[in-house]
Amino acid sequence: MLQRKSLRLPNHKTPRARFAPSPSGRMHLGNLFAALLAWLDIRALGGEMLLRMEDLDPDRCKPAYLDQLADDLDWLGLDWDLGWQAGKVAYQQSHRTAQYEAAFETLAHRGLVYPCFCTRKELLAASAPHASDGARVYNGHCRTLSAQEKTALLESGRRPAWRLKVPAEVISFVDGNFGPQQQKLESECGDFILRRSDGVYAYQLAVTADDGAMGITRVVRGWDLLSSTPRQIWLLEQLGYPVPTYCHLPLLVSPDGRRLSKRDRDLDVGVLRQKTTPEAVTGFLAHAAGLLAKPEPVHPRDLIPLFSWEKVGTQDRIVDSEALLTHR
Ligand code: GLU
Ligand code: ZN
Repeated sequence: MLQRKSLRLPNHKTPRARFAPSPSGRMHLGNLFAALLAWLDIRALGGEMLLRMEDLDPDRCKPAYLDQLADDLDWLGLDWDLGWQAGKVAYQQSHRTAQYEAAFETLAHRGLVYPCFCTRKELLAASAPHASDGARVYNGHCRTLSAQEKTALLESGRRPAWRLKVPAEVISFVDGNFGPQQQKLESECGDFILRRSDGVYAYQLAVTADDGAMGITRVVRGWDLLSSTPRQIWLLEQLGYPVPTYCHLPLLVSPDGRRLSKRDRDLDVGVLRQKTTPEAVTGFLAHAAGLLAKPEPVHPRDLIPLFSWEKVGTQDRIVDSEALLTHR
């Protein structure tokens, strides 16, 4: 097995993808579905796969979940060219604060960052949930604070969050699975947070600083992050990085229509590992993805020649996990 010790520069020719889970609990079938398809996509292209732990949020992410997560992916049969070596996780966002600080400073020097002193209550009062996904569009209140106002607020002890000034332009891209997309950041997203008031860097900043620095050329993940993509494209461009190809996946939903989540304890990998085999889980997921006519046991590597985005499509999949647990 080829071992790569250091990251090459972002201009390398080999396609490079990543799986970037948050270790905030044991993974469920939906996480495995995303991991498997991201892995198949890049293996079918002959590219490299990187594992990165997105454990920025100290309230949600626990170190114990981290090794468990890598071990669970190993159990499924996925392998990594970067980020998981000799049983150790190599890329952990909680260890990369200096990189996020540098990215933040780059944006700040370009005059793209400002402090926001709004309280949660003020934010709720000043903005309506956005029609499409329930997210709130920040009204830009603190964008125009004067230097004196900022100083006075800082001196009064208020700790600000830091926001990015979004451009008044439409960001367009072609998703490798969902096709042409566009978003006007100003009206559909608003100035978004780069750093929280407790000092923690936001997902949008960390994910782009990392995707850029790690030379990622393909991002495969659930469509719940499709609406974040224009923000990430804009940030990557501001940081001087090339923009990867984004391919968003359908999501797995339970028979009652709920999206699978980490709260569905019955679906977590711990239970799957006790009650079934990795080949059975892979076959079940490959069937859900449209890659197999029947949910037959299979190793991920045997699916590489069968992978195609036409088969995967964009429709969410209803899965009955009980069926997986009862048919061995
Ligand atoms: N860490 C994110 C999550 O677990 C995924 C980030 C990404 O793929 O861009 O939902
Ligand atoms: Zn504000």
